[in-house]
Amino acid sequence: MVMQRESAAPAERPTDTPPASSVRRGIRVSGTVQGVGFRPYVHHLAQMLSLSGWVRNDGEGVFIEAEGDPVQVARLIHELPHRAPRLAHVESIAVSELAPQGADGFVINTSLASAPATSVPADAAICESCLQELFDPANRRYLYPFINCLHCGPRFTLTRALPYDRARTTMAGFTLCPLCRREYEDPESRRFHAEPNACPICGPRLWLVDRHGAPVQTQDPVLHVWRLLEQGRIVAIRGIGGFHLACDARNVEAVAQLRRRKQRDEKPFAVMVLNVASARRWAQIGPQQALLLESTARPIVLATMRPAASELGAVAPGLDHLGLMLAYTPVHYLLFHAALGAPPGSAWLHAECAVALVMTSANPNGEPLVRDNDEAIRRLDEIADALLLHDRPIAVRCDDSVVRAADSGTRAPGPPQAAADAAQPVFVRRARGYAPAPIRLGRPGPSVLALGGHFKNTICATRGADAFVSQHLGDTDNAPARLLVAEAIAHWQAILGVRVIAVACDLHPDYASSALAARIAAESAVPLVAVQHHHAHIAAVLAEHQVETAVLGVALDGTGLGSDGTLWGGELLQVDGARSRRISQLCPLRLPGGERAAREPWRMGAAVLHRLGMGEQIAVRYAAMPAARQLAQVLDHDLNCPASSSMGRWFDAAAGLLGTSVVSSYEGQAAMRLEALARQHGPMHDVQGLYAIDPQGRLELIALLASLLDESDAARGSACFHGELVAGLDAWIGHHSKATGLDTVALGGGCFLNAIVSRELARMLAARGLRVLAARQVPANDGGLSLGQAWVAQRVLQEPAARDGAGRAGNGRS
Ligand SMILES: [Zn+2]
Ligand SMILES: [Zn+2]
Repeated sequence: MVMQRESAAPAERPTDTPPASSVRRGIRVSGTVQGVGFRPYVHHLAQMLSLSGWVRNDGEGVFIEAEGDPVQVARLIHELPHRAPRLAHVESIAVSELAPQGADGFVINTSLASAPATSVPADAAICESCLQELFDPANRRYLYPFINCLHCGPRFTLTRALPYDRARTTMAGFTLCPLCRREYEDPESRRFHAEPNACPICGPRLWLVDRHGAPVQTQDPVLHVWRLLEQGRIVAIRGIGGFHLACDARNVEAVAQLRRRKQRDEKPFAVMVLNVASARRWAQIGPQQALLLESTARPIVLATMRPAASELGAVAPGLDHLGLMLAYTPVHYLLFHAALGAPPGSAWLHAECAVALVMTSANPNGEPLVRDNDEAIRRLDEIADALLLHDRPIAVRCDDSVVRAADSGTRAPGPPQAAADAAQPVFVRRARGYAPAPIRLGRPGPSVLALGGHFKNTICATRGADAFVSQHLGDTDNAPARLLVAEAIAHWQAILGVRVIAVACDLHPDYASSALAARIAAESAVPLVAVQHHHAHIAAVLAEHQVETAVLGVALDGTGLGSDGTLWGGELLQVDGARSRRISQLCPLRLPGGERAAREPWRMGAAVLHRLGMGEQIAVRYAAMPAARQLAQVLDHDLNCPASSSMGRWFDAAAGLLGTSVVSSYEGQAAMRLEALARQHGPMHDVQGLYAIDPQGRLELIALLASLLDESDAARGSACFHGELVAGLDAWIGHHSKATGLDTVALGGGCFLNAIVSRELARMLAARGLRVLAARQVPANDGGLSLGQAWVAQRVLQEPAARDGAGRAGNGRS
């Protein structure tokens, strides 16, 4: 009915008296609509459609009153989500009828024009318009390293508190010059209320220092940095959420030097390139990977290496995937510009470029990211030859996010990110570019705070029907990291403005996060809810998929404390909200040496040998390990050999037996190598059935491990392990699904970062007619625990009768 008039030019008419046909509508827009240029966008749209009225920010998002021709008002409502600014994401639009007022013109509501935003957007990569200005010699921000606008730049990492306005960001100390102020106040400007707006006159600046902190005299600090990198030096570069350590990725010796200085033997380094064309030189970049690389979040994307990657230094030893990201700040682009000899124009931005830079987080000794200039000079003097510093303070540390592309067919519906980003990430680490975007829960609940686990930690707070999962905070096994968690809690409360009525944590009392949760609960006199580790993993999946019914939870993980006091990690759980009941588990293996076994896969190989009655072979097979001689006795006498049903330890055992990993230099390494080898070999076509479901209904994999004892081809052994494992898991889950009648399966836990297991298992379970849910909006590993804990805690509070079932609630830890 309106179609034929849609293309008509807006009608001209006097606006002092409302035409008889005029209507006025109240339009409530929710979603990520504050601090992203939404009001100027509405203003522009309304003017184009000759509507009168106003737009303003308020506590719930953006509110519009629009009046005029009914067709044009309808068109405004229709258009709103479609041409929204780059960083906006419209969740919902609600329309109400109002009486026409005959108002003239459309304004950004004067009385509330400066109403501050109540949500903080994520950091975003520099936009195309700013890039054009950055390299336009006629622009006043030519080569200015801190150029940004409403559609790009840092947000989250600058924000100290609510509401989101300049005074509460780290830009507060920079007074806008008259030109910048004019832009800031002009609704027609791309910098209208762009809180980090700056220019060379009034904004932050960049300078270079040597490793001792002495300023380096240079006309062009970025060019100087490139010269150093070209010579094989290592430079610390201050970014938006912390420091990177950079070196030339093609310089084998520079990469080796960085590994030595960082004492990081084998953990992969991320590589930064200029654009997708350049990324294709090193790795296989399909349409999904390209979309992820170019998305405003600009994460590190894991992609299969191409042969040319062998020209790079040891960036990902023993793996078949490379972590690639594109330049995302003006400084990064200036660096590539310098590396290319400062070409004129902007064509070079999209041309293939051979420059590849290692860009790894500067977090010496596994401690939190370095943030401040003085701290950098102190903590990085043994690692970096020079430091590129700036004076825009970082309010909160934030690492780069790490993702891989989701397989088609197993994708979840829309994650809360910019509408233009159609590609869906599977998170390995969720941080810059994604935090603090909320995960939408199925229904509103009480505000709770959850402190997560021990490794790869995040925290989560809920507000209404939103769960805010923090950026990746890292492992909490050192004192600085524990301070970081406390800092994150304070920051989360400052930018969310919630008062929590319960605190959730892991069931493991020795986790630093559990102790902190107990203290916060006691100090605030609110209940503490301890949630079993694997219950939380499954709950995280249920939370993001908004599932309220009972499901069969498949938790495949490292180790976590079970509700019976033993170490779990390969569990089938019946999860129904706050209730969780273990239905089955993997047959346990003993962990000789306790936690050491998780870092030394040969110990798990030894445990399997012992279980097979071949204990005497331990010292022979692992002759290079001094502890091997006693290990058979340690197992004989059961000295510090706790049993665990952990899936991760079965992977370690396979790696230990195949000899692919004897000692791990980072968590997950053994399993990642097995996965790479299995892919190298290709899938095994005939499953031999080297698994069994024992009389108690547990999955037994010992025959599979025994088959690896004499395997001389590690790739074939890895492929066999994966093929049989997935078939075994499918049979086991199918068996228990039938027995319980549960036909929805939720997959959670760190082992689902393994792309072969997650993809193949999901495919086989779906073929059984089961509904399969997997982690999409948060990582499947411990980075998602806090979300699951928060979801369980909400249900414990809402269904007190469920408390005995799982989440243990108490007033403080008694
Ligand atoms: Zn911009
Ligand atoms: Zn200025």
